[in-house]
Amino acid sequence: MSTHRLTAPAPGWTATTDVVVVGSGVAGLTVALDVRKAGLRALVVTKAMLDDGSTRWAQGGVAAALGEGDTPEQHLDDTLVAGAGICDEEAVRTLVTEGPDAVRRLIANGAAFDRGEDGEVLLTREGGHHRRRIVHAGGDATGAEISRALVAAVRAAPEIELIEHALVLDLLTDSDGHAAGLTLHVMGEGQRDGVGAVRARAVVLATGGMGQVFSATTNPAVSTGDGVALALRAGAAVTDLEFVQFHPTVLWLGPDAEGQQPLVSEAVRGEGAHLVDADGVRFMVGQHELAELAPRDVVAKAITRRMQEQGAEHMYLDGRHFGAEMWAERFPTILASCRAHGIDPVTEPIPIAPAAHFASGGVRTDRHGRTTVPGLYACGEVACTGVHGANRLASNSLLEGLVFAERIAADLAGRHAAGRLPERTVDVAAARAAHPVPLPPSEARAEIQRLMSRGAGILRSAASMADTAAGLALIAQQAYAHVAEEKPADPRVETWEAANLLLVATSLVAAAAQREETRGCHWREDFPERDDAHWRRHLITTLAANGDPVSTPEEQ
Ligand SMILES: Cc1cc2nc3c(=O)[nH]c(=O)nc-3n(C[C@H](O)[C@H](O)[C@H](O)COP(=O)(O)OP(=O)(O)OC[C@H]3O[C@@H](n4cnc5c(N)ncnc54)[C@H](O)[C@@H]3O)c2cc1C
Repeated sequence: MSTHRLTAPAPGWTATTDVVVVGSGVAGLTVALDVRKAGLRALVVTKAMLDDGSTRWAQGGVAAALGEGDTPEQHLDDTLVAGAGICDEEAVRTLVTEGPDAVRRLIANGAAFDRGEDGEVLLTREGGHHRRRIVHAGGDATGAEISRALVAAVRAAPEIELIEHALVLDLLTDSDGHAAGLTLHVMGEGQRDGVGAVRARAVVLATGGMGQVFSATTNPAVSTGDGVALALRAGAAVTDLEFVQFHPTVLWLGPDAEGQQPLVSEAVRGEGAHLVDADGVRFMVGQHELAELAPRDVVAKAITRRMQEQGAEHMYLDGRHFGAEMWAERFPTILASCRAHGIDPVTEPIPIAPAAHFASGGVRTDRHGRTTVPGLYACGEVACTGVHGANRLASNSLLEGLVFAERIAADLAGRHAAGRLPERTVDVAAARAAHPVPLPPSEARAEIQRLMSRGAGILRSAASMADTAAGLALIAQQAYAHVAEEKPADPRVETWEAANLLLVATSLVAAAAQREETRGCHWREDFPERDDAHWRRHLITTLAANGDPVSTPEEQ
């Protein structure tokens, strides 16, 4: 039962469906397409345009054991190694065994992957993979092709209703505490304008990542962690928030660059580009058996360490030996984006630095996408199925979105067929009685990002996180003070997003401060070793009655 909700006006309109899906990336659209096949009505609600999430930006591809000699077992081994001891092995097994067919179904849904002259799908390699097992499209435009295909399929399905430019606020439950719909704010004009409510038999969160909690990120502007914040307010458990993957090779645009930054895909290293310092030294050689293709955390840390040692603001990725033709054919998007910023990878090394990229943690789910709140499901980057552990293996996330979205749809279809997916009655009184969270001003977004990048980014320590936590607490206190002075921030998209970012950032810092070890992409300068005796387990975060996040170590 929700004890907290965002400050918002009471809903002025209501819509009804069977399954409401929040988000229109690979995960949300896959759920919508599949529940419809089970005879259920689906309503997809999305914050901006249908293709505005991370999915469209994915470059490298989708990992699946499709190549000759490759097996799900080998894919499992590579995933477990990257996950640094805390993957849920059964969830990984599900991912890698169901993955190849999920990719084939994606192809059947219209996604056109790159193929060789023999007509076979081409496979490339990325960091941490011991095999060529990454399918890709348009060279380095895989996500754009997946998004195009799924958006076309959803638009062609008359039983799927779509609401764009609609920010979902909070979960609604019935008197049994079962998810029964949600509140949302629609930006636009017409019958469904302003705050409304959607009633549904089940709710699926597919809201993507939370990269915008940091100053520099590869994630688009919509990735503000809304799904995690909503789930926390609804009483759900979230887990592994401290494991944020920083992509090692993001185009460096200067020390003050903020917001979404252009990615230089791992596939560029997969095809043989070298990481070098300003003197041209390949510093990854000798640090790991896979050199530049070591898992992302290893590479990101090595780059950061080299930058610290040399007092440099960035390192370089050198792919000059590819030649102009290969750059144009294999990496057209990256080539264009570098050239747009005045760098020509054909003739010069690309300046790069790590930036926030992927949330391994999220809303805790079982292998059917079920969260700890009955009737509330989560899939894609917002979820924590346990497949990524402490660090995601490259190109496993689109696959996770596909596989677990399909499993949610199958679970809903099974419940529907068994008569266990009844209509729900929203408990309106309980929804309005939940404690309204005061909203920070919209400018808080930049301050949260600055605090997080400075103290809780790639390098963390008890002192840096105490400073970050204090800065975040001050923003929350000021929001409460403004309410007390009767000068609250207006409820609107910017202030709702700021409130979500603040809750996610505070929860992330609470978990990261508690995990006194270095593991996967969580790097503690004051606890540089991995500590399996104490920390080979998850931290589960929930909201206390006063609205503060509390992280509790899972039983070992
Ligand atoms: C630059 C880049 C490159 C990447 N490359 C790869 C790769 O090569 N391979 C790979 O496997 N992964 C890659 N990833 C990661 C992968 O793209 C994402 O993890 C994946 O696309 C997430 O899919 P999703 O459906 O969960 O979320 P998204 O695609 O992010 O979609 C989230 C949706 O939720 C909506 N939303 C969010 N909040 C709300 C709200 N409050 N109300 C309503 N709607 C909301 C958004 O508008 C959006 O439609 C990359 C990511 C980035 C950023």
